[in-house]
Amino acid sequence: LIVLDQVNKRYGEHHVLRDVNLTVRQGEVVVIIGPSGAGKSTLCRAINRLETIDSGEISVDGTPLPAEGRQLARLRAEVGMVFQSFNLFAHKTVLDNVVLAQVHVLRRPRDEAVRKARELLDRVGIGSQAAKFPAQLSGGQQQRVAIARALAMDPKVILFDEPTSALDPEMVNEVLDVMTALAREGMTMVVVTHEMGFARRAADRVVFMADGEIVEQDTPDGFFGAPSSERAQSFLAKIL
Ligand code: ATP
Ligand code: MG
Repeated sequence: LIVLDQVNKRYGEHHVLRDVNLTVRQGEVVVIIGPSGAGKSTLCRAINRLETIDSGEISVDGTPLPAEGRQLARLRAEVGMVFQSFNLFAHKTVLDNVVLAQVHVLRRPRDEAVRKARELLDRVGIGSQAAKFPAQLSGGQQQRVAIARALAMDPKVILFDEPTSALDPEMVNEVLDVMTALAREGMTMVVVTHEMGFARRAADRVVFMADGEIVEQDTPDGFFGAPSSERAQSFLAKIL
């Protein structure tokens, strides 16, 4: 579904993505882990074209990433993104946050968009909060709104960049539970996270990045059981 072929990205002298090759298949859950500065966020942003690349190719569903225009809007609809900072519209209600892009980007009739939004808000467990504004919700609830908003676009894949790292500890699980359910339902997901429990439980594959490179990738059992690189071993020793 997503193919990155020899992708390189530099910020001036700094080589942030080095010959990255990665394939994500339909229905697969890929968890990306690695130390700060490894290039994990840059990789996600490049897939969604929030960031340009210097060389190589990224394709989604067989189509190379478009540079601009309508095609780019369509790509952004197909590739959902959930960020660490929820990025909700502060002056819109929870319901409108989930409705707006459906109407403006997908041109869905408003009543249909509202129906879909209510259904998704129920699914992530916040149906009763639909009329509130984001600031009236807890962090965990806001992040679940952000997930509902991504789902409303019927994306082919959702990218999650550290979706729980801005949350108070007691709210982490309510978000991870929603993500685990999505994974079980067959959603294609790329998840950058430090939550190793989630990686073990939900990932089909763990990708370990360091210094802009994919150092190794394996099943969760294979990776956590016996990481082959010294860099992965020392990373795991620090966080587990
Ligand atoms: P973290 O775990 O801290 O989120 P990360 O793996 O997501 O780290 P990136 O945010 O992708 O890392 O950053 C990779 C490198 O690129 C870092 O060294 C960072 O300083 C650099 N970088 C990221 N964005 C920019 C930018 N807009 N301009 C210059 N350098 C940048
Ligand atoms: Mg990051």
